[in-house]
Amino acid sequence: MSYEDKSITCVDCGAEFTFTAEEQQRFAERGYTNEPKRCKTCRDARKAQQGDSGGRGGRGFSSRGGSGGGGGGAGGSRGGYSSGPRQMFPATCATCGQPTEVPFKPSGNRPVYCRDCFQSQRAGGR
Ligand SMILES: [Zn+2]
Ligand SMILES: [Zn+2]
Repeated sequence: MSYEDKSITCVDCGAEFTFTAEEQQRFAERGYTNEPKRCKTCRDARKAQQGDSGGRGGRGFSSRGGSGGGGGGAGGSRGGYSSGPRQMFPATCATCGQPTEVPFKPSGNRPVYCRDCFQSQRAGGR
């Protein structure tokens, strides 16, 4: 079997990266059947983020079926998942056409505004 370089779009930053033939082969040798979803930069970032402290499955995400007891949501721990950087999606401002980034996935159902336009809409508006 032969592999060919393949370009994949990173699910994190949206950049295209190359899943090289060599990497594909390495993946196959390890028994991985999935293609990588993230570019190397994002993978490294995630690796660095997870670090070696505490391992995974730590706090943050709901440990369901947890330790009974109730009183779960006492703390105001909202405002994001783990402490990582917020994921941003590339978008185009509907007003001025500038490329921008938004903290949610643009669905196409509603317009996306850059920060300037968003604020001027809010402030001035009509
Ligand atoms: Zn990426
Ligand atoms: Zn704009």
